[in-house]
Amino acid sequence: MAKRDYYEVLGVAKTASDEELKKAYRKLARQYHPDVNKENPQEAEAKFKEINEAYSILSDPQKRAAYDQYGHAGTDPNFGAGMGGDFSDFGFEGFGDIFDMFFGGGGGGGRGSQRRTGPQRGNDLRYDMEITFEEAAFGKEATIEIPRTEVCPTCSGNGAKPGTPIKTCPHCGGSGQVQVTQNTAFGRFVNVRTCEHCHGAGKTIQTPCDECNGSGRVRRNRKIEIKVPAGVESGSRLRVSGEGEAGLRGGSPGDLYVYIYVKAHSRFERQGDDVISEISLSMTQAALGTTILVDTLDGKVELKIPEGTQHGTQFRMRGHGITHLRGHGRGDHFVRIKLAVPTKLNSEQRELLKKLAVSFGEKPAAEEKGFMDKVKEAFK
Ligand SMILES: [Zn+2]
Ligand SMILES: [Zn+2]
Repeated sequence: MAKRDYYEVLGVAKTASDEELKKAYRKLARQYHPDVNKENPQEAEAKFKEINEAYSILSDPQKRAAYDQYGHAGTDPNFGAGMGGDFSDFGFEGFGDIFDMFFGGGGGGGRGSQRRTGPQRGNDLRYDMEITFEEAAFGKEATIEIPRTEVCPTCSGNGAKPGTPIKTCPHCGGSGQVQVTQNTAFGRFVNVRTCEHCHGAGKTIQTPCDECNGSGRVRRNRKIEIKVPAGVESGSRLRVSGEGEAGLRGGSPGDLYVYIYVKAHSRFERQGDDVISEISLSMTQAALGTTILVDTLDGKVELKIPEGTQHGTQFRMRGHGITHLRGHGRGDHFVRIKLAVPTKLNSEQRELLKKLAVSFGEKPAAEEKGFMDKVKEAFK
């Protein structure tokens, strides 16, 4: 059975934010949890696994990026080998996570609770960038400006006014978590909740930092140098590592993703790394052969048109195409020939063409033409 698209599984758009993903996942996970589907447990379990798998990929920015680029192949545990990718912990996450969500904090001290109180990675950012056909062909260096949160430079992110004390939270003893025991009809539950006094930080500050009001993060407009590699296509995505939003509680920053949109060119068309353009030739140029100048990415380049060139012929100009994104060299430029038949002839030209027609052994169409011209005149 073919694997369904992960976005489809979760019923979200490809552009869904982390928050939207999480919401969709929770809703579906509750709906298909095997414990609540007694009637059709097998189907529910299959569905539940599918939902979990989709979420385990899409909730991880790195895996999601690989999935967006390569589809299911990108999430294969072997796929990232040798590429520096980290796809090794792919797999069904198990039921532990679900319980974390239902009961608001790791029933068994699972990953959910760590995520809430430990260092949290910053959010990824997206920037849409429009470039020209030529910039896509040769690459571009640009400076973009993005608004983002950064670690507060005054307090280095701890939220305390410099020189004022930071104390261990007395409510949770510094762990950032509190345990709540609940006796219910189903048994005894021990819930581990984030400490609401220190919000999971485990520390409390006496005097908040003036610059960030104790949050440890500040909003900044930051200029970032982007190197768009030669050969990118519309829809390509560049990852600028660590240039996203600041993390929480000492977590690493998110990444910045630059989405590339290539503007259409007025004369050039792109096919892979080749450029295609059209050139109009007169029938005499095509019949007798000539040398023309063709507009390419490298400026005007001479192209020899041989005698007897037909309409629709394509000529290849090697190496005048788009730089290969991977590997060396460039694509080619193809010139497609369009034959232009003259629409206005003077009497001398008409006579010459008639003679030519006779020389080709064609019947002269002179009378008819003269008649048609008269008809046209009459209607003017
Ligand atoms: Zn601060
Ligand atoms: Zn606390």
